[in-house]
Amino acid sequence: MQVIKTIAELRELRRCLTGSVGFVPTIGYLHEGHLALVKRARAENAIVVVSIFVNPTQFGPSEDLGTYPRDLDRDLKLLEKEKTDIIFVPSDAEIYPSEFSTWVDVEKVAERLEGASRPGHFRGVATVVAKLFNIVQPTKAYFGQKDAQQAIVIKRMVTDLNMMVEIVVVPTVRESDGLAMSSRNTYLSPKERQAATVLFRALSLARQLWQGGEKDADKIRQQMTSLIQREPLAKIDYVSIADADTLEELDMIDRLALASLAVRIGKTRLIDNMTLE
Ligand code: AMP
Repeated sequence: MQVIKTIAELRELRRCLTGSVGFVPTIGYLHEGHLALVKRARAENAIVVVSIFVNPTQFGPSEDLGTYPRDLDRDLKLLEKEKTDIIFVPSDAEIYPSEFSTWVDVEKVAERLEGASRPGHFRGVATVVAKLFNIVQPTKAYFGQKDAQQAIVIKRMVTDLNMMVEIVVVPTVRESDGLAMSSRNTYLSPKERQAATVLFRALSLARQLWQGGEKDADKIRQQMTSLIQREPLAKIDYVSIADADTLEELDMIDRLALASLAVRIGKTRLIDNMTLE
C-alpha cells in the first residue's frame, strides 16, 4: 500500500500502471459503508485507489468542516486490510492552489433536494471529483447509494463532459436497526442515536405504503412527515418522493421513484433514501 500526497507523485505512479483502476473518493473517517465500495473496487479491478480529502468547497459556511471527524491512521489501517494499493491524501493547497478559479456546475438535478438545502455543495463535489478523475484516471469509480443524488450528479457530469470512467453505485450499508452508516453518526448522543432510526422507519413506511398499492406521492410524503414529527428530537429538512433519474417531485408514482429525506437530529443533519421498487 502506498500513501501519496502530491498530484505529481500520483501522476508518475499512474503512468506505470497497467490494467483496470478502481477508484473510491472519500472524505475519510471510514466505516463499513466506505469499505463496501473498496471491496467492490477490489473485486473488479487490478488496482484500487482510494482518496481521502475533506473537500472544503463542498461544505457551506455554517456547516461542519472544522469539526468533521478525522483519523488518518485508523483509515489507513482499514484500507490496508482491504488490500488497497494506493491512497491519495492531498492537502487543501495541493487541490486548491491560490490561483484556482475553475468550477464544475451541474444544473437541474443538482439544484433540487440537497442542492436546494446546501447551496454550492454539488459545485464543490463535482469540481473535486472531476479533478480527482483527471488525476487518478480511473477505469471505474465507486459511489454509495446512501448519497443517491451525488451519484446522479456525478453520472450527469461524466456523460455531459464525456469523461472516460464508468460509475458504479453500491447499495447502502446499514446498522442492524436500519440507520445508514455515516461518519456524521459519531456526532449523535445515545438518545439522538436512538431517535435517528426515524429516517429508516419513515423510508420503510414509504416502501410499505407503495407496496400496498398507494400511488399518490403526497399521501406517502404526509405519512412519512407525521411519523417523523412524532419523534421529538427530529426536525425535517425535506421529505421527497421523486423520479429516480431526474429527482423531479412526483404527484403519482407511475415510474421508478426515490423516497429520500434530510432530517436534523439535534444539531446533526442526516440523509437517507430508498428506491420504491
Ligand atoms: P464520504 O466520505 O461521506 O464522502 O463518502 C464516500 C463514499 O462512500 C460516497 O460515495 C458515499 O455515498 C459512500 N458511502 C457513505 N456511507 C455509505 C453507506 N452507509 N453505504 C454505502 N456507501 C456509503
